[in-house]
Amino acid sequence: MIDYSKQLQDSLHLKIAEEGPIGIDVFMAHALGALEIGYYMSHDPLGKNGDFTTAPEISQMFGEMIGAWLADVWSQHGSPSDFILLELGPGRGTLMADIVRTCTKVPGFMDGAQIHLTEMSPVLKEKQQETLAALKVCWHDDLSDLPDNAPIFFVANEFFDALPFKQFIYKGGKWAERVIDIRDGEFLYAEQMTMVNPVDGMNLPSPEEGKVFELSRPRQDCMADLARRIKIQTGAGLVIDYGHVKSGYGDTFQALRGHEFSDPLKNVGQSDLTSHVDFCALKGAAREQGADVLGVTRQGDFLLALGIQLRAHQLLQTASGHIAKDIQKSLHRLVHSDEMGSLFKVMGLNYGASIKPAGF
Ligand code: SAH
Repeated sequence: MIDYSKQLQDSLHLKIAEEGPIGIDVFMAHALGALEIGYYMSHDPLGKNGDFTTAPEISQMFGEMIGAWLADVWSQHGSPSDFILLELGPGRGTLMADIVRTCTKVPGFMDGAQIHLTEMSPVLKEKQQETLAALKVCWHDDLSDLPDNAPIFFVANEFFDALPFKQFIYKGGKWAERVIDIRDGEFLYAEQMTMVNPVDGMNLPSPEEGKVFELSRPRQDCMADLARRIKIQTGAGLVIDYGHVKSGYGDTFQALRGHEFSDPLKNVGQSDLTSHVDFCALKGAAREQGADVLGVTRQGDFLLALGIQLRAHQLLQTASGHIAKDIQKSLHRLVHSDEMGSLFKVMGLNYGASIKPAGF
């Protein structure tokens, strides 16, 4: 595997030298998505030998629960015979493979499903092609060219956190944007005057000196786009990610390298850059388009309500030794509050049918 991080760092240095300090959003978009050399564009970051692991990579049970949820809401929508089964940011294609395996058991579901994936990384697209080789799949760079003539049932797991965000800091009674500059060849934070009041119209306590607020238009825009489509085409879906139910102050910019937290301004191109997702902001963006938000709940509660424990017991009937241990460990990781159970949230979206969704 070629390491493009030197080229990436050089190109970011050049960008800052030419344009002056850049917002965290611009830094992140370039670090993750720059053509050929960006973190996601040049390698597969997932798995044991990568930088982070996601729920579908931990256990097949995760995708089975998501598949069961999608099949259930599809049936409550009257089992449309032609529909879009959409995943945003599918990583290695593991979640979609588990969804399809589960939903094949539901009469009519796979006959009507057209699988659509949005993916920007050529490396991950190749992995998805391998994982989903037996299926007919359409890939898109974004949602703009998704067909507009069929209901949509979708999932996005750890996708929204990868979309860029800005940070603002409250200093001397004013908001400033946190930007990234270079000194002596190293990236460092700086502040830039701004006319933006990032908390305008939000129901938040007055900021105190030094408080940080994070705002992501790309996340809100993507949510609005999805919600608009659901409103027009009908359908339902789930957004799953780490984040908070209520908007609030705090610096959550993080980098993961080799499964450890690291400094986001160091080893650029060799670590995943993200921040926690503001589900309150996503909810607002979806509602503004007229879609129904089914709720935002903790991943642990959601998976338990869907019966993940029963599924684990079922798998344990035929497992022994390290496989049995692995099932128990995975279940714990996915649902326990000290692991992914509380930090990760699940948001449900729906339009076009009155449904009683499991888990909310
Ligand atoms: N959902 C997968 C992978 C999560 S990693 C899982 O749970 O395992 C984030 C995924 O989103 C990767 O597939 C990455 O390439 C994709 N991605 C990140 N930013 C994107 C963007 N702006 N447009 C399209 N895909 C993006």
